[in-house]
Amino acid sequence: MAVPHQYTLETLDQIDRSIPAYAVLGDPITHSLSPAMHNAAFQKLGIPGRYVRIQVPVERLPELVEKMRTFPFLGWNCTVPHKFEMMNLCNELNSSARAGMSVNTVKNEKGKLIGSSTDGKGWVHAIREDFNKEVRDLRVLIVGIGGAGTALANQAWSEGSSKVLLLNRTFEKAQALAQKLSTNSRQGIRALAWDKSVLAKELEGIDLIVNATSIGLKPDDPSVLDSELIQSHHLVYDTIYKETALLKAAKEAGAKTANGLSMLLHQGALAFSIWNPVAPLDEVTEVMRSALQEAFKKS
Ligand code: NAP
Repeated sequence: MAVPHQYTLETLDQIDRSIPAYAVLGDPITHSLSPAMHNAAFQKLGIPGRYVRIQVPVERLPELVEKMRTFPFLGWNCTVPHKFEMMNLCNELNSSARAGMSVNTVKNEKGKLIGSSTDGKGWVHAIREDFNKEVRDLRVLIVGIGGAGTALANQAWSEGSSKVLLLNRTFEKAQALAQKLSTNSRQGIRALAWDKSVLAKELEGIDLIVNATSIGLKPDDPSVLDSELIQSHHLVYDTIYKETALLKAAKEAGAKTANGLSMLLHQGALAFSIWNPVAPLDEVTEVMRSALQEAFKKS
């Protein structure tokens, strides 16, 4: 009989307890490519472990986490919509979770849950790999200040980017984050109004444009930014892992582009190395890269 890779609170008791278990929690979760990456790493590096998906609605997350705390789960990732709520369920948050204001990785140390966020650092690795640039050397526009956008804006600012502009449909969220991060000695972080003439002027002084909204997830979604705003000197990164309308428009404008598959890879490799610190990160990344590419082709 084939081993199931997806569970719910009701079916979790059926999991094989003889192997250390890891998981990704979300709602929905069936689309997640994380099991392919993590199981390949466990297998190729000879580390005992099995990584599964768990579908859980947000109102039942506390119940699930209590079960996983005492169950043989040594760690887990969480994705939409659990990254904020998971912060409240951990016993300790490390600096990456506090800075990113979310948790995507939990390590279970004998019942003590330690929360981290690898999204920001994973994205820095992705920008280095895709554009051969360091985030700290770039002036950045983050479009979308939800969970991911907040983590990326925090990361860019803490890396030392001289300018971080925040653009969000709900202006107040971007404004609140800019105010929180801005200090008397460093003031290059600002919220922008979603206005074409304001954006045209501001984008002249931007190197890297990042889409961290959900626009582009659906096949017929328009470009999150008007195509006339994108210039050939821009680097355009879409956190969504496909060729979105934004990326098509950016290519037509002569800009360099990359999609979110690289961020998915690097946040996953960093999570794996939190659970298995002896595994060399470069080796984990390469094993995961091949598995992810294969799983992506089939998806
Ligand atoms: P989230 O917290 O729900 O945030 C969604 C963001 O999209 C908010 O800023 C929201 O603006 C904006 N938005 C939604 N609909 C919009 C519309 N019609 N017009 C303008 N803005 C709109 O979600 P998240 O977790 O941050 O995820 C955001 C994106 O990042 C998703 O596309 C996800 O796939 C991607 N992501 C990728 C990775 C990776 O590894 N590649 C990791 C994490 C996330 P409001 O604040 O106004 O609602």
